[in-house]
Amino acid sequence: MSLKNSNIIVIKIGSSLLVDKNKKIRKKWLSSFAKDIQKLKNMNKKIIIVSSGAIALGCIKMHFNKKNLKLDKSQAIASIGQIELMNLFLNTFSKYNLNISQILLTLEDTEERRRSLNAKRTFENLFNLNFIPVVNENDTIATTEIKYGDNDRLASRVAQITNSDALVLLSDVDGLYTKNPKIFKDAKLIKKVGDFNKDLKDLNFKGINELGSGGMSTKIEAAKICQLSGCNMIIANGLYLNPIDKIMKKNNFTLFVSKISKLDARKKWIISSVSPKGELIIDDGAKKALKNGKSLLAAGIKKVNGKFSKGDHIKILDKSYKECARGLCSFSSNEVVKILGHQSKEIEKILGYTTKSEVVHKDDMVEI
Ligand code: GLU
Repeated sequence: MSLKNSNIIVIKIGSSLLVDKNKKIRKKWLSSFAKDIQKLKNMNKKIIIVSSGAIALGCIKMHFNKKNLKLDKSQAIASIGQIELMNLFLNTFSKYNLNISQILLTLEDTEERRRSLNAKRTFENLFNLNFIPVVNENDTIATTEIKYGDNDRLASRVAQITNSDALVLLSDVDGLYTKNPKIFKDAKLIKKVGDFNKDLKDLNFKGINELGSGGMSTKIEAAKICQLSGCNMIIANGLYLNPIDKIMKKNNFTLFVSKISKLDARKKWIISSVSPKGELIIDDGAKKALKNGKSLLAAGIKKVNGKFSKGDHIKILDKSYKECARGLCSFSSNEVVKILGHQSKEIEKILGYTTKSEVVHKDDMVEI
């Protein structure tokens, strides 16, 4: 696998890459990273950055020690540090003519389907505007029960939501080792993981979990999420200057290869919905369009059954009520009732606000 073949890439950077042990911001490193991103952009890649560092930068500004912070205080510190973090990105990335935006997510934003679909559209719109979203957990409001707490798993869910091809976790270790290399001389870097049960069966977890500032177990959890989403994942050492360039040139990292294709993963998810919330009955013309891989437009819909919200699972039936597809509806049932049979260009006028033009987008639909 090479990043060259990946179209959408999520890159997660840990606090230890941005701030060194003496609490100094690693500005030179960030510049070299921005240069790498510029190269990827020149290759027409869509990039999302997941960056930690809000609490670390807040602590620097306020002269606090991260270890002594209680949750409520750390939320306030994150609020102070998050703008420091974005300022740092803005100043550095603008030198390379790279546009950045900020997205702060909580657990519910990725776990609740409707909110995750909204987030997905925002990512897509930012790509279209040629902006690089910089994501962090919304630490200021995330409490223990509703908190990711680590950006490894957050990054993997972002990769899943955005249908990304690759997730790169830049850490301060080379990757996943068989044992803790600081203790055992015979520890080996695992270069490739295809099958978790087979390839990781001899892993001595105890010793390796302390490796990497965020720990290894959250990284393995992230890899499992990626595998199910058809996304490849890399754990690599990001401490070096030009870390992405290094990954592209030298095979010194752990690669988790996804066994299923991206499309398969998505199709599986859509098709395996246990309770579609409603039905759309379509005409022959729309049925033919779906067969040819097109999206479902309002003009081809004859009737709506059931009550559903935007983003819910629905069945698509032909005029003899035979199921021909399943998908995620971009409109609520109330909205579809108003727009069915109409041309897409009329939708805005009928509803009184701007929306998507496809009722079920082809990427959100599986033909049966
Ligand atoms: N969201 C936290 C921060 O910005 C970091 C979480 C992590 O490092 O995984 O400080």
